[in-house]
Amino acid sequence: MNSSKGQVTWKRTYYSKNIDTSLNGKEVIIVGWVSSIREHSNVKFLTLNDRFGNIQVILKKNEYPVSLDSEIPKIKEHASIAIKGKVRSEPKAPHGIEIIPSDFKILSLANKNSPIVIQSRKGVGIDTRLDLRAIDLRRPYLQSIFGIRYTVLNSCREFLRKEEFTEVNTPKIISTATEGGATLFPIFYYEREAFLTQSPQLYKEQLVMAFENVFEIGPIFRAEPSRTNRHLSEATSIDIEKAYADYNDIMETLERLIHYVWQEVKEKDKSHLEYLKIDLPELSIPFQRYRYSDLIEKLQSVGESIEWGDDISQQKLRNLDDENMKNFYFIVDWPTSIKPFYVKPKSTETECESFDLIYKNLELSSGSTRIHDKSELVERMKKQGLKIDAFDFHLKVFDYGMPPHAGFGLGLERLMMSICNVDNIRDVILFPRDIDRLSP
Ligand code: ATP
Ligand code: MG
Repeated sequence: MNSSKGQVTWKRTYYSKNIDTSLNGKEVIIVGWVSSIREHSNVKFLTLNDRFGNIQVILKKNEYPVSLDSEIPKIKEHASIAIKGKVRSEPKAPHGIEIIPSDFKILSLANKNSPIVIQSRKGVGIDTRLDLRAIDLRRPYLQSIFGIRYTVLNSCREFLRKEEFTEVNTPKIISTATEGGATLFPIFYYEREAFLTQSPQLYKEQLVMAFENVFEIGPIFRAEPSRTNRHLSEATSIDIEKAYADYNDIMETLERLIHYVWQEVKEKDKSHLEYLKIDLPELSIPFQRYRYSDLIEKLQSVGESIEWGDDISQQKLRNLDDENMKNFYFIVDWPTSIKPFYVKPKSTETECESFDLIYKNLELSSGSTRIHDKSELVERMKKQGLKIDAFDFHLKVFDYGMPPHAGFGLGLERLMMSICNVDNIRDVILFPRDIDRLSP
């Protein structure tokens, strides 16, 4: 082969997306991996994928140099190859064009047959897929999902930047539980015990003192004890905190954020949505707001066994036959007793200025007005049985005029599940972590 003698430089001249019938007869070099090989009466059809798509390559005796004969059997699915060849218009080819090679170079052999079927939408069992995740991610199904994830992340940043929020990064190794729960991962920190953070809550609250409006997109760690399709041990949270605002202001920010992201995905990811067979409906804002107390009454009236003060499970929401619950909606004014200590109670004390954003029956976000008065905060912490001393680092900044503020945490993977109509959260994160899985 020319290549081994170093006479051809194997530099890509075109990506698949840039090759069309206008290049008919032109010589190109394409580089990528082989996603399928089919054979029909002595003609081999290769599909070569690059980051923008794929192109058909035809290996037909008499059309390629005899010198390639011994190399061709070495090409297996997943191999990386560079191909030099002529572009030919072919109406029957997937994109109306194909490549007739004059030479190629195998850049990396595939030594094994992959258990993952690239063309399949659902693929093989989730564990087989996750064990070889890097290969699984070559499937167009996941390429579409992660293409959308990229748009979602970008458009969240764009929206919040336009709204003049400052992007911040807060510590992920912390000394005290944010909310005192049992879902913390302890770690060794030199000679001491420390934890992975469940949420940037306390830090983003502190940062409103200096920056007013902040947001962070980062990991949160939760030692979730149960195996569900909507909980990860390491998830991505889109957190915002805003000074001089209350929960109504922040709900309005959140619904505009969701609306913006939704529109961006609709506009920028048409081909991905088409592949996933998703027709995103028009979203109208404001979203419906349901008072917690009203929902409890409604649930009781349809025979659910639920008391005021209980959490409202996914299953219970599913059982409510309400047209407005087929989309995004808020549940507001939750009982103070089931929300974290930093959530501001209403004047009634038993209810608090809080909301959950739900899509169908999936919780996407929780938010609230926060308590900014130190003594009130200490009171709430005592009621929840938290050790005040452990929060000294946090409480002491409240002595210096902490502004009133409000914020929310929005789960990126949960948002992705709602946009991509995915049931298992593991399919919208590259390398999921859960109680059973710590690798790859
Ligand atoms: P859930 O009731 O669904 O377990 P939560 O109320 O414990 O969630 P919050 O503390 O309110 O969660 O966190 C804010 C958001 O972060 C949630 O609404 C959700 O979108 C996301 N989130 C929380 N925990 C997880 C997790 N284990 N995996 C994925 N996303 C999560
Ligand atoms: Mg919540």
